[in-house]
Amino acid sequence: MRYFIGNWKMFGVPKSISILNKINSYYSKDKNRNKYRVIMTPPYTLIESYSKYFKNKKISIGAQNCYQKEQFSSNTAAVSPYMLKSVGAKYTLVGHSDNRGEGDTDTMLKDKVRYALKNNLKVVFCIGENKTEKKNKKTLSVLKRQLTKVLEKKFNKNNLIVAYEPIWSIGTGKIPTTDELKKTTIHIKKVLKGIFKKNSPAVLYGGSVDGSNVEMFKEIKEIDGFLVGGASKTSKKFIDIIKNYYR
Ligand code: PEP
Repeated sequence: MRYFIGNWKMFGVPKSISILNKINSYYSKDKNRNKYRVIMTPPYTLIESYSKYFKNKKISIGAQNCYQKEQFSSNTAAVSPYMLKSVGAKYTLVGHSDNRGEGDTDTMLKDKVRYALKNNLKVVFCIGENKTEKKNKKTLSVLKRQLTKVLEKKFNKNNLIVAYEPIWSIGTGKIPTTDELKKTTIHIKKVLKGIFKKNSPAVLYGGSVDGSNVEMFKEIKEIDGFLVGGASKTSKKFIDIIKNYYR
């Protein structure tokens, strides 16, 4: 199974549902539709209405983050996994570099993953090295640390997806070479196998993916799909990624 996940970040109002409607129409009719899943993560404000609208349709709706408490707490503006599940979210991202940059620690991320899984949300756990770490050839050790500090064998790996998103690639148009990405993805899968002892969860790539570069990633069979930021906000751009991947 392949995954095409869109991360809208701080984008979207109720009428932006038309973008998702177009993507859903394509997805529903695509002859390859059984080979992949499409998940979109709009901002919190749209999760309930979009989840209701797409309830019996192909696209699944997820959140971009969740708070590290299970149900309710006194933290202003926080949204828990339980609250997300109650309005129809099926997935949540955890550990996006934007949120790590704002202070998410490994301990917080572990709680987020744990409580999200406990509330039957599927978790897309994001990892990735920054520019300096890459320059200092620390990529593999950074990724290993990010995975082993947070993920535990007892977590349900069937509800877990890992998204490798090098920070230097997000929103910059820069992407790793095929060799780099293959090596990194194999490393991630090896670390995951070490944690879960059996097959690894799916591993996606994210960072400046668009319709023109997605074909390059096709060669890397270890990549199970993509987490897409910028190109998920336009139906044509997002559909082009799927189209060109299966061309
Ligand atoms: C992201 O923010 O998760 C992302 C991958 O962004 P972009 O596709 O715009 O690089």
